[in-house]
This record gives sequence, structure tokens and C-alpha cells, in this order.
Amino acid sequence: MKVLEYMQQYGHEQLVLCHDHASGLRGIIAIHNTVLGPALGGLRMWNYASEEEAILDALRLARGMTYKNSVAGLHLGGGKSVIIGDARKDKNEAMLRAFGRYVQSLNGRYITAEDVGIGTADIEHVRVETDYAAGIPVPSGGSGDPSPFTALGVFRGILACAQEKWGSTDLQGKTVAVQGLGHVGYYLCKHLHEAGAKLIVTDLYEDQVRRLVAELGATAVTTDAIYSVACDIFSPNALGAVINDDTIPVLKATIVAGAANNQLKEDRHGDRLMELGILYAPDYVINAGGVINVAAELEPNGYNSEVSTAKVMGIYDNVANVIAIAKNEGIPTYRAADRLAEMRIQQIAAVKRTYIG
Ligand code: NAD
Repeated sequence: MKVLEYMQQYGHEQLVLCHDHASGLRGIIAIHNTVLGPALGGLRMWNYASEEEAILDALRLARGMTYKNSVAGLHLGGGKSVIIGDARKDKNEAMLRAFGRYVQSLNGRYITAEDVGIGTADIEHVRVETDYAAGIPVPSGGSGDPSPFTALGVFRGILACAQEKWGSTDLQGKTVAVQGLGHVGYYLCKHLHEAGAKLIVTDLYEDQVRRLVAELGATAVTTDAIYSVACDIFSPNALGAVINDDTIPVLKATIVAGAANNQLKEDRHGDRLMELGILYAPDYVINAGGVINVAAELEPNGYNSEVSTAKVMGIYDNVANVIAIAKNEGIPTYRAADRLAEMRIQQIAAVKRTYIG
């Protein structure tokens, strides 16, 4: 892999390789763009098959954070970090603290948080060594589990889609097919139920399905059947790449809106949804509630859940804005989201050209 060539192609600023012999740390910090502010993005611990795979993942995820943070209106750039290793076997306090020291050495250019394989307890170790860690547990004055905020943001984005499709945000009598009833899916179902929507649900875990059937009167279907059920909205909250050549032909929904990352298997699947008149809420726009909530920890007065909730409610406007751009320019919504993100970065970069002494 030609790392610098890749960075040049996608506009990355910096890549840091971190090693600590004593703790076994093998880490990578990728900073994509800091025009809007310090690069914020989580730390992932994963048993990558090769260094190259880990570097590519860090670079790709960092760039994704630039776009997500930009459209979310945050004063933050995009970055991400990874530790190579098995999170269940290889993780230890010394490794996390060694990683924290490398984050600190970047002097605020990168702010870390949790991601796959890293929990709030791990961030407690990281933050011993750095001022630049977010996603701290509630008892320590942090924002805690981001999932309820992600779910609220997804719900608000669904309302914006409903307004566009049906001229009303009323979900009474609408049917939503929800794939994945984990941290986000569960809270999302509660919002949808309260709004009067009928729920068709699926998950790999029987107990998660049973809970929603019992609590909210949801209808359960198999994991394969969820794509083709009669519904108004398909909400992916489990895996990526679920919008693909196999699923698009069987979808009955006219809106696709959920929390899962990288829902489109390829860009062309977003083009296809547009051709079919299916409104797609771009994943990184609608699922930004979690990062908005984590970023609220960085406010000068500390974390305040009411302020954070108000910002997450704004995802309605962010999704509506993307839909408006897509309509005006005759482009798919996933492209409109990228355009919105890039436009903001360009505008702010221009503002920053002025010398202020
Ligand atoms: P989670 O692991 O708690 O829940 C995912 C659920 O999906 C699990 O219950 C799992 O059993 C189920 N699942 C997996 N494969 C499935 C399949 N083939 N069919 C049906 N169900 C399946 O994860 P989460 O935190 O709820 O996140 C859900 C999605 O949203 C993920 O893609 C995640 O990356 C994304 N996301 C989450 C957050 C957040 O705040 N948690 C923020 C942004 C994006």
C-alpha cells in the first residue's frame, strides 16, 4: 500500500504509528482534516489481519468522521485511531495509558473516544494520560452511552423524511421494519411506538425480539424476511452494506432511514434508490446523535444533557437540508450529504485565511 499516495488522494493530514514495547501497544492515529477544529473520532480495537488493513481502516474511518462532524455542524474535524489486537485478550491498562500518552503528544489535534472493542471503562484509563479523550461515564461527569442520543437523532431524521414523502411528520398508522434491536434499535423502536407507528422487527438474538414484542406489540419476522415485508420505512440498525443488489428489488418501503454505518454496499445502490423513488437518509447524517452527544463533553461548561438533546433534535434540519440539496440539484441524497460536508469545510477554510494577530 502506498500510504502517502492514499493520503494525497483523499486529503488526509497526518498518520501516526504508535508503539510501546512493554504494554504491547501497536496503534495508529489517523487525522483526516482539522479545518473545522480538532479531529474527533473513536478508538477501535480490532484483530486486523495485517498492518496494512489497520492503516487503511484508520484512514477510511477518519475521513468518514470529517464528513459526519461537518454535516452535524460540530466545530470538529475528522480523525480515528485503532489498536491492533484482540480486545478480549490483549487489552490492558498500560496499553491504553500508553495510547493516551501518544494522543496527548498531539497537543489537541486529535480527540479520542470509544468505538468497537473499546468501552467507557477503557476511556477512563486513556484519560489518565491525556486531556483529549471524550465518551466518559456519567458518574465521572461524562456523557455515557451515546446510543439513546443516536436513536433520538435517527427518529428525528425519520420525521424529516416523512415530511418530505407524505407532507406530514405524523407516523400514526405507518409501518416501520426495524433491522437490529441492539443499543440503538431498541430506543428507536420506543420513539416510533410512541409516535403511533406499527413495528415489524428482527434481530439475531431471540430475547431482544421477544422483549419488543412484549413491550411494544411489535411483529417479529426472521432476519431474512425483514427486507421484503410490507412497510413504509425500512430502518437498518445492525450491519452495513444492507442496501445492495439482492435487497433493493424486494424492498417495499419508500424510505430507508436507520443508524447502521455504510448502509449502501456501493454508491450505485444509492443511485438506484433514487431511481426507484425511495428516499434514503444518508447514514452519517442521520446517525450523528452519538457523536453530537460525545462532543458536548468538550463544551467549556462541561456536559449538559439538555443542551446535547436540543442539538441532537437538530438532525431533523440536517436531514431536511440534505434532501433539499438533493432535490434542487437532482442528485442522490448520499451525494448531497457529501456536498454539504465539503461546502462547509471550504467556507470555513476561507474564513480562517484572515490573519487575526
Ligand atoms: P448493537 O451491537 O448494540 O446492536 C446491533 C444489533 O443488530 C444486535 O442486537 C445484533 O444481534 C443485531 N444484528 C446483527 N446482525 C443482524 C442481522 N443480520 N439481522 C438482524 N439483526 C442483526 O449496536 P448498536 O450500538 O445498536 O449500533 C447499531 C448500528 O448503528 C451499528 O451499525 C453501529 O455502527 C451504528 N451506530 C451506532 C451508534 C451508537 O451510538 N451506538 C452511533 C452511530 C452508528
